[in-house]
Amino acid sequence: MLGILCALRGIHAVILEKRADAVTHSRSIGIHSPSLPIFEEAGIIEALIAAGNRIDRGSAYLENEYIGDMDFSKQSAPYPFIITCSQTTTEKMLEKRFSALAPGSLMRGYSAETLSVNDSGCHVFTHDNRTFSAPWLLACDGKNSRIREWCGIESRNHTYPDTYMMGDFHDGNGTRNTADVHLCRAGLVESFPHGNNMRRWVIHSGGRQGSPAPELIARTVHERTGRQPAPRTCTMTSLFQPSRNIASTFIQGRVLLAGDAAHEISPIGGQGMNLGWLDASALADALMTPDYNTLYRCAERRRILAIKAARQAERNMSLGRPFRSLTTRKLILMAMLSRPLTPYFISRFSMQYLNDFPKR
Ligand SMILES: Cc1cc2nc3c(=O)[nH]c(=O)nc-3n(C[C@H](O)[C@H](O)[C@H](O)COP(=O)(O)OP(=O)(O)OC[C@H]3O[C@@H](n4cnc5c(N)ncnc54)[C@H](O)[C@@H]3O)c2cc1C
Repeated sequence: MLGILCALRGIHAVILEKRADAVTHSRSIGIHSPSLPIFEEAGIIEALIAAGNRIDRGSAYLENEYIGDMDFSKQSAPYPFIITCSQTTTEKMLEKRFSALAPGSLMRGYSAETLSVNDSGCHVFTHDNRTFSAPWLLACDGKNSRIREWCGIESRNHTYPDTYMMGDFHDGNGTRNTADVHLCRAGLVESFPHGNNMRRWVIHSGGRQGSPAPELIARTVHERTGRQPAPRTCTMTSLFQPSRNIASTFIQGRVLLAGDAAHEISPIGGQGMNLGWLDASALADALMTPDYNTLYRCAERRRILAIKAARQAERNMSLGRPFRSLTTRKLILMAMLSRPLTPYFISRFSMQYLNDFPKR
């Protein structure tokens, strides 16, 4: 996305990607409303909406008792909904668009190995001894960022005690435009429609380790919610343990961090990839006047937003942890779904609150 937004502003950018091929797994599927205008600017919003699944509302349950809905269309946003789209499809779409705007500038199979930075710019040396030089280096190399490490930027990792099982199953009679959140005594169960009549289930699984079998996911969903995903229709399972890792600065000299290299947050609420696109949008604008002060201000704002998003993700997680009293949880849910408070919570869950901050 950052490459596309740079190309549209006439900024020449080369992307070094160590993977020779595109990803085949699909962990990130939720694309929130503040990211959709960025897809519009990139010229691929129609393609995304056509390829994805539109979610207009979230239904809240206490175990299997329906409590109420959050209607995302009530947001005052140009695209007041969530799109779920497989990560593979989204990445392909972005790659195709970038290749059309800047042919030959996505260099797959090139791993950045070492780096030197001086007054003339940044020089990246790849595994095959090639050198790529540029005035600015944007490090988007993920949560274990090697570039962040080279720069000596401190980043303290906190791993949460919670683990979550995740699995994709055929959707049966599910409602295609509704995400479901079940707060259960034994822990959260949430599900999102996506792809070709599939539904992704995410289940709080205490501190369980090891990859879960489809039967275990289906049984746990049934025990907690009464729903019955069919194990034979399962196409993917995994188990993840969320972490929080926010770099102490997002800029050092001529190097800027973005995406998970700058901020890894819990995926409960599905916001990390979206936060990365908001980085891309702000950075592409700031690079139009590429002096240190402008970029520093932009980096600091991005850091404040990342801290806010990390806190929101922590609140989402704590709401979904196992609990004893159904009455207390019911009161919390009913308050969140009550007329005066719903807009506030919709803005929290849809990341709209991050848009209230100036980009630069
Ligand atoms: C289970 C799970 C579900 C999630 N679901 C969602 C969701 O629904 N919505 C959401 O918003 N977020 C979600 N997230 C978070 C999201 O996956 C991340 O925030 C996002 O992928 C970060 O993107 P990134 O490009 O910064 O990093 P990455 O996706 O890690 O990409 C980094 C890239 O850099 C490349 N690279 C690394 N080192 C080098 C090097 N030395 N040289 C060249 N290339 C290099 C890698 O090959 C990789 O392609 C989820 C996360 C998890 C774990």
